[in-house]
Amino acid sequence: MSLYRGRFAPSPTGPLHLGSLFAALISYLEARSHHGKWLLRIEDVDAKREQPGARQAIIDTLHAHGLYWDEAVSYQSDRSHYYETTLKQLTTQKYTFQCACSRKQLFESNGQHLSFCQKLTNSPESQIQTKHLQCATKFKIGETQFNWEDDILGSMSLKHSENFVLKRKDGFYAYQLAVVCDDIEQGITHVVRGSDLLGSTPMQLALFQALKVKPPTFGHFPILLNAQQQKLSKQTYAPAINNSTPLKNLLSLFTMLKLPIKNKPSSTTEALKMALQIWDKHYIPTIKSLKHTPTA
Ligand code: GLU
Repeated sequence: MSLYRGRFAPSPTGPLHLGSLFAALISYLEARSHHGKWLLRIEDVDAKREQPGARQAIIDTLHAHGLYWDEAVSYQSDRSHYYETTLKQLTTQKYTFQCACSRKQLFESNGQHLSFCQKLTNSPESQIQTKHLQCATKFKIGETQFNWEDDILGSMSLKHSENFVLKRKDGFYAYQLAVVCDDIEQGITHVVRGSDLLGSTPMQLALFQALKVKPPTFGHFPILLNAQQQKLSKQTYAPAINNSTPLKNLLSLFTMLKLPIKNKPSSTTEALKMALQIWDKHYIPTIKSLKHTPTA
């Protein structure tokens, strides 16, 4: 039995665009070619960024393209209790501190916390001090070099020195905490995602280490860029995927990956089957971004 457990974890900030369908496809092909499970997790931890209808639009697009996942869809908005328990554990282990500094203050002071903030450990005195202040809970980290063997990019080494947020001042749990809790709880063995998230990997590795859990294997594929060299995203007005042309959409992604598919498939099911017959992660370019030229 295969132990491979991968996932596609979109944030419902809008419908899927070609860049996010590319992410779904690569993580799907990787999981299926290892005879593994492929899970769908809707990362709606930040309710303020969620766009109404986006959850369903994501599900509809995956269905339209024959990208079916295993197990029930999980939603981060249902999992606050789990994030809170983990946060308490990290606090007990003294990995956290309460921080009242604003981003502006930290920027202006070159990342130096206000003197009183540094002292805000979780001692009874500091609990009293922070009671009337709006604080974020942050993870303490000194300058650390993180090394990992990336499944796509090879040996990686990134330095991280900035304390990072686990729970925001407005009470929302931060992405870094939620994603690590979920990957642990869902038994994810392989995280396959865009290189725009490379900077998050050291923070997630720090959390895995603090929680004494073996991290998954990370693999970062190139993000798709538009003609202006910007990442395809909602902010750069990447159009939503057209669900009425799923085969064409899949074939254009196969072309980007230079998959040598000889006969034209007649359906998405056939297209994915053909891709899986030849799939090898070496089709994924080992670069951080890839220019996407739309076809007519
Ligand atoms: N939710 C993140 C995004 O949509 C992806 C997180 C991950 O794959 O770790 O960019």
